[in-house]
Amino acid sequence: MTVRTPVSATRVKVHFAGRQWPAFPVGAAEWRTILGTDPTTRPGRHALTVEASAAGGAGLVARRTVTVVRVAFPRREVTFDPALAPLLTREAAERERRRVAEALRVLHPSQLWADPLTLPLQGKVTSGYGTLSIYQKQVRGFHGGVDILAPEGTPVRSASRGIVRLAEPLPLSGHAVLVDHGLGVVTSYLHLSEIGVRVGQRIGRGEIIGRVGSTGLSTGPHLHWGLRVNGVRVDPIPWTAR
Ligand SMILES: [Zn+2]
Repeated sequence: MTVRTPVSATRVKVHFAGRQWPAFPVGAAEWRTILGTDPTTRPGRHALTVEASAAGGAGLVARRTVTVVRVAFPRREVTFDPALAPLLTREAAERERRRVAEALRVLHPSQLWADPLTLPLQGKVTSGYGTLSIYQKQVRGFHGGVDILAPEGTPVRSASRGIVRLAEPLPLSGHAVLVDHGLGVVTSYLHLSEIGVRVGQRIGRGEIIGRVGSTGLSTGPHLHWGLRVNGVRVDPIPWTAR
């Protein structure tokens, strides 16, 4: 979403779906913010409010309504080898969540990616975005990305230009790489057998960042590819060329 103000604003605040969204200045009187919804967003009408303030305290408020449509996501039941059960603890999930939040605390303020994103590798999508995951008879939330089937060792390529923000093993996601593409857009590449980049590295579209594996909470070699916009996990497939 682009916000244009009649005069240069010093601050733009965006509210939607019960939270505030970061807005980034992209021109003299132009700001951009990228909104996302996920399967936990309430379907129906949501208020979108934009508040712009200029030097000297003058302010403008614009209001719009955004309708979030209901989507019926499939369910999948996953049964893991009991040896993996220790990975399914709340503590491990919390540790991973904190580590990811820390790595993504400061993101690049301008757009690095080019539309559309490219798929990190070619392969069959075995589990789509939004699928309700039931592990060991327990609902564990929705699938926050897509699983692409590929043999162990297949090169995994960055979906676009960006900066590596995380490149390390995580308790559930296994060997993981997170790439910051600017304006709050981040792609994730999980369960890798090998990581080929380091934190802070600038990478180009299609550059190899690692290799397919089955590390962490995984039932076989595949790539989990995810896309976050300002912290909300959205479906990466509509962002690719089709
Ligand atoms: Zn997955």
